[in-house]
Amino acid sequence: MDKKTVLITGASRGIGAETARLFAGKGYNLIINCNKSFDSLTALQKELQEEYEADCLAIRADVSNPTELNYMFEAAGRRFGDIDVLINNAGISITGLMTDMTDDEWNRVINTNLSSVFYCCKQVVPSMVRNKAGSIVNVSSVWGLYGASCEVAYSASKGGINAFTKALAKELGPSNIKVNAIAFGVIDTDMNKGYTEEERKDLAEEVAMGRFATAKEAAEIIYDTAANHPYLTGQVIQFDGGWI
Ligand code: NAD
Repeated sequence: MDKKTVLITGASRGIGAETARLFAGKGYNLIINCNKSFDSLTALQKELQEEYEADCLAIRADVSNPTELNYMFEAAGRRFGDIDVLINNAGISITGLMTDMTDDEWNRVINTNLSSVFYCCKQVVPSMVRNKAGSIVNVSSVWGLYGASCEVAYSASKGGINAFTKALAKELGPSNIKVNAIAFGVIDTDMNKGYTEEERKDLAEEVAMGRFATAKEAAEIIYDTAANHPYLTGQVIQFDGGWI
């Protein structure tokens, strides 16, 4: 059987990198992406090639920039043909009072977290519809469901992803394409490196499971949602260890 191809945005570290390792271990061809830490991305590419003999393309592109995405998807298509699985994982957060947030910061968060999902889905959906197969997983957050104090843009972007996911799933279900989102709680990655040890301890105590999830655990639910359960679509799966 032909190998399947997955494209993962924001894969230089954290949840995206662990997700890439998991798909590589399952025999997928990979396109991995980030916009800044390209050295880390190429190191991961080398690791995936050596450890799993994966065919892997590393592409630098800013997911908030549709022109750069055109280049990325063209390069991906030339190398692997159609994309079977899209993982929209790249994301940033800016914290602070809503009144202190600049227009530029607002736009940066919305474009990186939400508009990117629209741009990337628009690139892959035509071939998925043609093939009558495909799976999209959008990486979201519990803050998109419940809102976080001092994270209005982030919460709005993730809430937008949740609604986008449900709407697109209805549009694409008749073409046998799954679209789901995972609303993560607190995962042990660089995104949370700003917390002090004391704050980490307090936060972990709020979680029913008593700890942050590992990036590997996050990757496992992404992989399972993307690759298994053909009837699962239009869902925002809350993966927060019983936190909220
Ligand atoms: P991270 O900061 O470790 O990784 C983010 C990745 O996105 C990096 O590879 C970074 O290079 C990439 N990225 C950022 N801006 C980009 C851009 N413009 N173009 C391309 N790539 C870009 O964070 P993480 O925790 O691994 O986050 C992954 C996803 O999980 C994000 O969407 C985040 O919102 C979501 N999430 C994380 C948590 C958590 O607790 N860590 C909780 C809920 C949701």
